[in-house]
Amino acid sequence: MVYWIHIARAIDRVTLHRDRCSEVPSSVSSSDFWEGGWFDYPDKERALAAMELAGTSDERKCALCKP
Ligand SMILES: [Zn+2]
Repeated sequence: MVYWIHIARAIDRVTLHRDRCSEVPSSVSSSDFWEGGWFDYPDKERALAAMELAGTSDERKCALCKP
């Protein structure tokens, strides 16, 4: 199971998603961790660690895919 995080610097939020979530874009253009974008991780622990590293004030789990 792959997990995705979506970093939205503009609204200071990071959101965790599951692999098959409809909100995850089918193709991800190059993203910069410090600018924001979509990032995939091979397991939930690494995704959660990346969420903390992102340092946004708002950390959420997607209400659609409930990761
Ligand atoms: Zn989701």
